Amino acid sequence: MPGRTTRDHHPEGETTMPTMSSTTPDLTPDYDALVQHFDEFAAAEVTPRVQHMESSPHTVERDLALLMAEQGWFGATISQQYGGMHAGHLAKTLMIQSMARASGAVGAILQASQLPVSMLIHFGSDEQKARLLPQIAAGDTLLSIAVTEENTGSHVLGMETTARRDGTDWIIDGSKAHIGNSHIAHVHCVVARTAPADEAGSRSLTAFLVEHDRKGLTVEPHQPALGLHGFSFGKLTFDGVRIPEANVIGEVGDGKDIAYSSSILYGRPNLAALSLGLHEAILECTTTFLSERERYGGTLADLPVLRDRVAVMKSRLMAARALAHQSALMLDHGQTCDGELINAKYLNDEWAVESGQTAMRLHGAHALRRDYLLQRLWRDIQCTYAPAGTGEVQRQRLAETEFGSPPIQWSQRLSAKTSLFPPTSAAA
Ligand SMILES: Cc1cc2nc3c(=O)[nH]c(=O)nc-3n(C[C@H](O)[C@H](O)[C@H](O)COP(=O)(O)OP(=O)(O)OC[C@H]3O[C@@H](n4cnc5c(N)ncnc54)[C@H](O)[C@@H]3O)c2cc1C
Repeated sequence: MPGRTTRDHHPEGETTMPTMSSTTPDLTPDYDALVQHFDEFAAAEVTPRVQHMESSPHTVERDLALLMAEQGWFGATISQQYGGMHAGHLAKTLMIQSMARASGAVGAILQASQLPVSMLIHFGSDEQKARLLPQIAAGDTLLSIAVTEENTGSHVLGMETTARRDGTDWIIDGSKAHIGNSHIAHVHCVVARTAPADEAGSRSLTAFLVEHDRKGLTVEPHQPALGLHGFSFGKLTFDGVRIPEANVIGEVGDGKDIAYSSSILYGRPNLAALSLGLHEAILECTTTFLSERERYGGTLADLPVLRDRVAVMKSRLMAARALAHQSALMLDHGQTCDGELINAKYLNDEWAVESGQTAMRLHGAHALRRDYLLQRLWRDIQCTYAPAGTGEVQRQRLAETEFGSPPIQWSQRLSAKTSLFPPTSAAA
């Protein structure tokens, strides 16, 4: 483990948290120190493993997950009461961004087990929090969030996996698809149907904690995807999996709210950070290439038309960074910011993909070589569209707000539990 742990910056009982103006995304020295620490970890531990991860896409990367767990990073937003870092959403964003700059897969591993922490913090019972949050903060337990199904995808209320009561237990049958960290999570936070859709409407789903070694739970063999090699987002099959009543998260019928709130408050910023880190790597790779490729007594970087293309990439990246950091900071301030979180996820993905496409063209034939860095970045950036809501879903949510039928503002309801700063008057 290189250098200090991030927890060393915020020892138990310390009250001074990183400071940042509420109106500017510029990093203050405290956040700079965090970024330096994350970047040093990435350089020492992540970069040396990237080549192996790329050349063995059938393998799930476990060592780096454990190393990050040892750092306490999966407990970034867990309070010090439970041994967590209580570093906030902006620090979490910077952490994922730094890892993704070195490896999209490692950024994805980090974000996927941080996302379900939201379910426990906001809806877990006192017993569940006292038992699991310290284990997560210590790096002993990794979570997954298991909502998506093969047939129903984004239509969460259409899910077919069921949970039925049997005495004081519940029995789960069905399957979940594309589940981040499917192969390394110790506990899966599973949302299942507990009432017919037409009977209970939006109260028809319930969330459960399902330990990975429960009888009847199968993690299907890892299948390599287009990108994010080393990250598993696979299939879980439930064949009569029996779990006790104590494993219900929140109340029976809370499943939709638990899934949606986690996706807004943690999923959106986490995916924005993942896209952002990849976007930064894409721009850096492109400027390096153009600056080194000789032509006409200079380099390609001297050609005005290519400089202009790079300027457009840089403009997108600067705007994307501002959206990701500012929305995470609003969450840290306990402000109402669902729209900002949604937009940050939406545009970070869109703009990174656009820059990735420009970069491929600026590299000419080089980008087509299998071992070429940009090709990995381009493949990885294709994988950030679907998780935590596709572009269509994000635009639907934004349109609902604009046409006067705003959905529940989860940040308004729940962000106080993880905020670092008292709400400002703007949020009151
Ligand atoms: C890298 C990665 C990690 C993931 N991690 C997780 C995880 O940890 N947990 C988890 O539960 N899931 C996870 N997912 C799954 C992800 O949430 C789903 O892929 C997503 O919800 C979309 O579902 P789908 O892929 O089945 O697409 P579909 O829902 O079938 O959509 C297909 C297309 O139709 C569009 N569409 C669908 N419905 C509508 C509509 N009503 N209006 C307009 N357009 C629509 C979509 O935008 C998309 O373009 C992950 C996916 C990826 C790629």
